[in-house]
Amino acid sequence: AARLRAYTGLTIFSEMTALAQAAGAVNLGQGFPDSDGPPEVLEAAREAIAQGLNQYPPATGLPVLRRAVAERRATDHGVAYDPDTEVVVTAGATEAIAAALLGLCEPGDEVVVFDPLYDSYGACLAMAGLRRVPVLLEHDGTRFTFDPDALRAAVGPRTRMILLNTPHNPTGKVFDADELALIAGLCIEHDLIAVTDEVYEYLVYDGLRHLPLAALPGMRERTLTISSAGKTFSTTGWKVGWACGPARLVTAVRTVKQYLTFASGTPFQAAVATGLTECMPWVENLRATLERRRDLLVTGLREAGITVLAGNATYFVQVDARSFGTDDGDALCRDLPASAGVAAIPSVALYDDKKAGRHLVRLAFCKDESLLATATARLAGRA
Ligand code: PMP
Ligand code: GLN
Repeated sequence: AARLRAYTGLTIFSEMTALAQAAGAVNLGQGFPDSDGPPEVLEAAREAIAQGLNQYPPATGLPVLRRAVAERRATDHGVAYDPDTEVVVTAGATEAIAAALLGLCEPGDEVVVFDPLYDSYGACLAMAGLRRVPVLLEHDGTRFTFDPDALRAAVGPRTRMILLNTPHNPTGKVFDADELALIAGLCIEHDLIAVTDEVYEYLVYDGLRHLPLAALPGMRERTLTISSAGKTFSTTGWKVGWACGPARLVTAVRTVKQYLTFASGTPFQAAVATGLTECMPWVENLRATLERRRDLLVTGLREAGITVLAGNATYFVQVDARSFGTDDGDALCRDLPASAGVAAIPSVALYDDKKAGRHLVRLAFCKDESLLATATARLAGRA
């Protein structure tokens, strides 16, 4: 279809992983950890299979998982959901995002997004026939921020939704209370739906806290909150995600989801329920480990004179291609696997404003420390 013409190639993540494999490079591109999640969760999946949890689950997800998701939202974020009507399990956060856009908007509606935006947002907006209205995140020397007036100006008569990702990929930005209050105020003033992608909710560093938009006054009733098990339990290949919100929003997601996948991953759903109820101390340990790894990478790169824009969360930091003698981050990423033995993601692939993202390169630090040290030494040699 013409509206998908921009998306016919491989995703930037598949493309860069292929380059990494061809060159035998250290892959700091596609964001996935190189060690697997809690032994109890892995064992729970094996047990679920052995016990015969191998047929379709209910289309809304196994009740045990919906209850565990609701319990976590209430305990960790103080927002209560009815597991039967206000939680739906999806094939990763990716399906929840697609179903939310397809189920909650009419073709031609406008959706406000922060730029850069995760790759599936652009493609799903196009599939749903929606118009994206980007608000640029700019680095002010300390952190990525946005111009409040630009956000206000982005909302117009055709705006249906604000699609927010916090903690944010690829910047590592954690939207703070003031920023969220501004977003919430606009949603309430203009009667907009908020959809929030919080897949990195537990991977936050530097003593900061993830604040869900749904926890702000007046927002629970208009916010669909999406998350998944991939990052929380280092099981990115399991693709177990969910959406929580008032029944009218969750029903829209369920309606679409029924005809996208209907359901998926019964034994993995059971195992994730175990994770959410029993393994949060493991997740805290993962968080601390990742914070250390981020520091290791950032310090090493900076000592080599490379400019690093580090955020406070997620798997990622960004570096400035100009430290490598070019302002073309895309060309640099196509060259790095062969010339330096390191793969990265050109952040420009996630930018609507190609000029703003041109010089940025994303590196993932969710890797073994010796691998990070090798990558750092190789990048230092190339800079
Ligand atoms: N949203 C963001 C911001 C992501 O970075 C990712 C992938 N890591 C996803 C959604 C997809 O999540 P899932 O694998 O659960 O579909
Ligand atoms: N979310 C992962 C990243 O940002 C990639 C997932 C994918 O390959 N689609 O690196």
